[in-house]
Amino acid sequence: MLVLKGSEAAARIKKEVQEMVEGLGGHVPTAAIVRVGERPDDLSYERNVMKKIASFGMEARSFAFPESIREGEFQAEFQKINDDPSIDGILLFCPLPRHMNGRTFEELIRPEKDLDGISPVNRARIFAGEKDGFAPCTAEAVIEILKTYQIPMEGKRAVVVGRSMVVGRPLSMLFLKENATVTVCHTKTADLKAVCREADILVAAAGKAGMISGEFVKPGAVVADVGINVDENGALKGDVEWDGLEAAAAAAATPVPGGVGSVTTAVLCRHLAEAAMRKYGAEQAQ
Ligand code: NDP
Repeated sequence: MLVLKGSEAAARIKKEVQEMVEGLGGHVPTAAIVRVGERPDDLSYERNVMKKIASFGMEARSFAFPESIREGEFQAEFQKINDDPSIDGILLFCPLPRHMNGRTFEELIRPEKDLDGISPVNRARIFAGEKDGFAPCTAEAVIEILKTYQIPMEGKRAVVVGRSMVVGRPLSMLFLKENATVTVCHTKTADLKAVCREADILVAAAGKAGMISGEFVKPGAVVADVGINVDENGALKGDVEWDGLEAAAAAAATPVPGGVGSVTTAVLCRHLAEAAMRKYGAEQAQ
């Protein structure tokens, strides 16, 4: 079974980003990483993102606010970042604390700075299969790994387990754009196993450790595991039971860790470079 390594896709994306940055006449693309509160997951993702952006030759500035900040006050601060011409892209950690309405900020973020595809404008662009929208980075990371390993998608049956706005739904639209035939599954799907066994490309994005055993996998299928679950010993586990894949005769699969997760931040970097390039291009055209 071929192991689809995230590092291969990330290296390919890094080259693309470096070429884009070189064409920016000395401008260094700059991201604002905006966080409210101190959730450990957010803190660790933030460290990762800051490191990755720097390693791709770009800049990241962290804007952290206390969990207790009032919504109106945060909105005013967010608007300043949104309007700051020295910021090319914004990553806002979601979900926001309970006393805030996430929708307000999804609508507020400028679509051209929306690195993780949360604005309604970008969602509509992805829904319409347009080229210039920003998709949520994790959904795009799945497609990027498949492209890196030249796994054909056109005409294939893609089954996505999970229908969240960050992974399952946008990924189903990205598969459609690649001319795959897509099925989206969720907790109410009848006979999930049988549906998954129809997949040429099976994506697990449910957030349930090991729920996709070998019995869900058709021989020759390609499996992408988006799940990130932490077990009782603090180890990362995917949604796919890795040991069952060989016996199921899967053709290829992404590991956890080292698979989709490691490409997500590379895609974020590409979005940042693209955002800066579009702005630069528009300025040059004036
Ligand atoms: P959500 O909890 O928002 O969504 C989970 C989806 O999976 C829901 O649509 C749910 O169905 C479905 N689901 C859950 N259990 C089952 C089941 N037993 N059978 C069928 N469907 C099921 O999670 P996210 O989409 O945010 O994340 C999914 C996973 O991906 C998580 O492990 C998360 O940590 C990981 N992740 C990884 C990222 C990365 O690589 N950087 C980034 C984002 C997420 P229903 O709608 O019916 O409830």
